[in-house]
Amino acid sequence: MSGDLSLAPSATGSAVPAVLRERGQRTVFCGLTGIVWLHRKMQDAFFLVVGSRTCAHLLQSAAGVMIFAEPRFATAIIEERDLAGMADCNDELDRIALQLLERRPEIRTLFLVGSCPSEVIKLDLGKAAQRLDRSLGQGRRVLHYSGSGIETTFTEGEDACLAALVPQMPATASGAAPGLLVVGTLPDVVEDQFRRLFAELGLPEPGWLPARRLADLPAIGPQTRFLLAQPFLGETVRALQDRGARRLDALFPFGAEGTTDWLRAAADAFGVSPMHFNRVVAPGRERAKRAIAHSQAQLSGKRITFLPDSQLEVPLARFLSTELGMVPVEVGTPYLHRDLMARELPLLPIATRLSEGQHVERQLDRVRADRPDLTVCGLGLANPLEAEGLATKWAIELVFSPIHGFDQAGDLADLFARPLRRRDVLRV
Ligand code: SF4
Repeated sequence: MSGDLSLAPSATGSAVPAVLRERGQRTVFCGLTGIVWLHRKMQDAFFLVVGSRTCAHLLQSAAGVMIFAEPRFATAIIEERDLAGMADCNDELDRIALQLLERRPEIRTLFLVGSCPSEVIKLDLGKAAQRLDRSLGQGRRVLHYSGSGIETTFTEGEDACLAALVPQMPATASGAAPGLLVVGTLPDVVEDQFRRLFAELGLPEPGWLPARRLADLPAIGPQTRFLLAQPFLGETVRALQDRGARRLDALFPFGAEGTTDWLRAAADAFGVSPMHFNRVVAPGRERAKRAIAHSQAQLSGKRITFLPDSQLEVPLARFLSTELGMVPVEVGTPYLHRDLMARELPLLPIATRLSEGQHVERQLDRVRADRPDLTVCGLGLANPLEAEGLATKWAIELVFSPIHGFDQAGDLADLFARPLRRRDVLRV
């Protein structure tokens, strides 16, 4: 199937790069991977993957071996006899879930997570969750979402999980004062930094989705204004808007400028004066600029390609281009949420090749022809490209590292500078 090139109209009317749409073989982790960071964030939740041994291995290797802590995820293995329809998977699933909750009374929310095998045998996890939810009661809930590789890529698992939580959020009282909600999983340390900045700005104490304890999900309603912390949450955005909440359009909080713009969107929505905003934000912004400057010499003028992986590609390319002078050659993303990217896209150089979806062979041919200074890609593609003399960066590190906000901006720039530094050292 051939690629399809079209011009992307921008919501702001500014020129944005053309989009190359491709369909074909892709090399992206499935949505189960999100459990690695979701289970760390939501401390009273448990993720029960209904899948195969492959799913269990993926999770175990992505999360590392947890010897000292009792993990809050597991896999209910679908065996061959289940696939052949010889056993009643529903009875088995109920038995495992009840046993688990008996042994772990601290678990308040159980997620049944669908996988390729559960989809193939058409196991209805929605019904299973309802059935278990009814029989458990006692302030516990059972929800479900799909992390299968058929339906989801990598970060879409978080989107599906958060979208499943939205109907569980209580409604704000009618006539309640406007409230602020931050949406997307952030490491606790980054959440605390933003919490302090919101307080200094005089904004209302924000709610967080996901909350650290799901028993404390924030209330939502037409008075809620929300900021997206992650760019891959299209389904969650729709669910929040269906409950009347309104999204504050902003750049994503990467780098000095992205973070300033993100905070300003909240400040403007709640009537904070520009003078007070500048006074509060200036020290962090200056600190971020100084930290970013350490990588400037290494990165300025260098050409970079992103292969589609986490959906962080567009805002990260914008950060590298506008704040470090890098030249994005190709920016690939599994899905392009045009409305969520409306502020980001016009800031990419117009010559950037923007691609949506993947046809891995064609994309690798383009990388070989372009020979960028750095290619951001999945683990499976990094070694072959390195063997061809191309410097690479593992995309997964960008998801697992704290990269949002002023105080992480220097580390974020350094994540891209490091492979180039290593290459220079090896060349000497
Ligand atoms: S859900 Fe599908 S793609 Fe993901 S690990 Fe299981 S079998 Fe593999």
